[in-house]
Formats: sequence, C-alpha cells, structure tokens
Amino acid sequence: MSKTPRVNASLRFHRTATLLRCAIAWLIICLSAADAKTLTTSKTKSDLRGVRVLVGRNVDDFKLRSVSAVTLEDADGKIFYRTTPNQWVRIRANSGKIFIDGVAYRVNAFMVRSFSDAPLELSKRNKDGWADGILYPGAFRCFVSSAKKIHIVNFVEVETYVAGVVAREVWPTFATQAYRAQAIAARSFVLCQMQFRQSKEWDVTNGQGSQVYGGLREDRTGRLATQATKYTEGIVCIYDDGEKTEIVRTYYSAACGGMTQSAAIFGPADDIPPLAGGVACDYCNIAPQNNYRWKTVRLRKQEIFRLITARHKSLQSLGQLRNLSIVKRSAEGRPVTIRLHGNGDQHHDMLVEKFRLWLGGNKLRSSDFKMRVVGDTVAFENGRGYGHGLGLCQWGMEGQAREGKSAAEILRFYFPGSQLQRAY
Ligand SMILES: [Zn+2]
Repeated sequence: MSKTPRVNASLRFHRTATLLRCAIAWLIICLSAADAKTLTTSKTKSDLRGVRVLVGRNVDDFKLRSVSAVTLEDADGKIFYRTTPNQWVRIRANSGKIFIDGVAYRVNAFMVRSFSDAPLELSKRNKDGWADGILYPGAFRCFVSSAKKIHIVNFVEVETYVAGVVAREVWPTFATQAYRAQAIAARSFVLCQMQFRQSKEWDVTNGQGSQVYGGLREDRTGRLATQATKYTEGIVCIYDDGEKTEIVRTYYSAACGGMTQSAAIFGPADDIPPLAGGVACDYCNIAPQNNYRWKTVRLRKQEIFRLITARHKSLQSLGQLRNLSIVKRSAEGRPVTIRLHGNGDQHHDMLVEKFRLWLGGNKLRSSDFKMRVVGDTVAFENGRGYGHGLGLCQWGMEGQAREGKSAAEILRFYFPGSQLQRAY
C-alpha cells in the first residue's frame, strides 16, 4: 500500500494464465514419516537464487553510484567500466546504442555491482530532471529492450526483497502480526513467481501489478519490516491436497469490502480451496475513507469508450458504447463479467476487474459495485473494497491483528485450508 492504499498483486491473474499453479518442484517439502510436523527441504537458503525485480522499464537516461566503486561487467563477466567511490556513472540509450558517461559502448547487456556489495543508488532522468535517488541492495542487470531503451532489473536476495516489499505494502502504523502476515504473503507470492518465470528476464515488477518494492527503506517502517521478515524467515503458505504440496499464490489487496473474491474466475489453475474466495470479512471496516466503501462514481459513456479503446484499439469496431450491463456475477453477487454494447448487436464481454483497471487512475476502486445507466452517464454505486479482493485483505489483516490474532491465524482465515511451512 505504501503511502496510499494500493491494489496489489492484481494483474497477475489475467496476464499470466500459464503461470498460475504453484507446484513446489525445486522447493520440494518432504513430510517426515515419523513426524508429520517435521519438515525437511531439498533447498537451503543459500541454494536459493536471487529475485529479479524489474525496477526500470524502457529507461533512456539514468545514473548510478555507490559509496564504494561501481563496476560494469559485460556478458562474459569482464569489467569494462569502473567508477571511484560516490562517483555517478550516467547511462543513456539512443536508438538501442548504450552510452556510458557520453561514450558509446558495444554492449547490449551488462551487470552493475558495487565493489563492496554496498547499496547502489539509482536515479532516473525524466522531463522534470533527475528523480530522487533510490538505494537498492544487490546488483543490477541492464539490457536493451525491444523499444531500444534500457530495462533495469535488480538482482536481490529473497529475504532482503521480502523486507523491501513489506516496508511498502503495510501502513507504518500496522501491528506486528500484520507485518508478519504480510511478510509470509509477500514471500509465498514471489517464490511462485520465481518458479514460473524462471526462463524470463525478470520474476516480478516493482509496482502494484505485482508487489510494490522500492529498494531499501531505512526508517522505522523499514526496520519493522526487516524484523518481521527475519522472524518469519523461509516460512510460506502452502496447500496440500493429499497428493502434492504447493505454495499458495498469496494474492492480496487493500480491502475486500466484506467478502473475498475467487481467484478461479481469473484462471482455472488457481482453483484451489485457499483461493476460492467467499471469506466474509468485516475486519477491513477500519480502513480509511473510500477503502471499505467508496462513493458513487459517474462517468460518461463516451469517456468510458475512449479510455477502454485506448487500451484495446480493436474495440473501436464497436463504433460506440451504447450501453453497459453485468452479464455474470459470482455466487456472492459480485460482478464478474461486464458487456460493452456497441452499434447494432455488437458487444464485447470482459472481466469487470480488467474493465476497472483499463479505466485507469483508480476511478473505480474495486469491481464490487452496482451499476446504473442513466442517459449518457453510468453511475457506479455502492462500491465496496479497494483492489481485486482476492486472498488476503490487508486492512482486514490489520483489523484482526488489532484484535490479537496471530499472523498464522490471519493467513489461515484468508487462505482457508492452507498451512504455514518452512521452505528453507
Ligand atoms: Zn476485508
């Protein structure tokens, strides 16, 4: 959630249909025959590779430094550039060519490390000038993107990454057990991603579509996040159906608004009891205004059509947005599929969650609303919750923590049938 409540882990379900199921594979957890509660694992923490987090997408001008020397290595591991401590190195992309401190280099990809593993400070240049530098642990891999700019991927150790996510995803005032529950959820989620995106260039992005991550945070919230991460080190949320054990893809969002939603709607592979939704939760009624309930939003049909077709140009074939209707609801009555009516009999059905995200700007805080069409205007009324409503409800997690529930109890509540186990 960082400073404002966020929609979290929200886009994965429709973006990565093939990535959905979390079989453990390289994190095989074997139950000892003698004692079902004793776990052995095929991996130790040191066996685990780092997480690859996309922290810069199609960047064409940025600079890096560290308190120690910074080195740039080519694909063969050969150092081709080195700074002195605290010296910025500026990297630019121009039509796919990489310029380092103004000199062209014939590299398409390179690693950036600080000499003593000190954090690296990254600052991007945008139209307003240089953005504030952000400190990142680990190293960076930079490579030329298909848009001939540069993608920047932070390579970071899993537990350090988890602490970085917790520091951005909780509110500073959250209770200790909420921090711990968030740490376990963030760890479980990223371990799923690491497995299924093994062959890709990165495992997660740093935004709301994945898990919010902003490198190191060294204030009180950062310290509490690190403590919660250390306390829960290696612990993940798993589901055992009797035949196999898998890490649960622990989706979470700011506030469910009263009832969690099923993940199976977005991908049949997530059709497991812990993600079935339908968990009644009023604990999130402590959330700030416009989180638990949100005010009526009125949008003109023309505006909706403009926003939707900007995201999906082929929908311009509808000609216009004549009407909108909900054509499918969940068992609990939450809208699932919305129909866009165009000219004549033309129509297009889409998930309400996608529709909401395509409108952009958090105009609709959730897909749980009543819709009323009056003339040219569509009123979205009785809005409930903030975010996709899958899995863990973050304000509900805090509400339960305030009532004395433990992190384990909170996670079992939102992921029914799951258990906590140590993955390493
Ligand atoms: Zn809730």
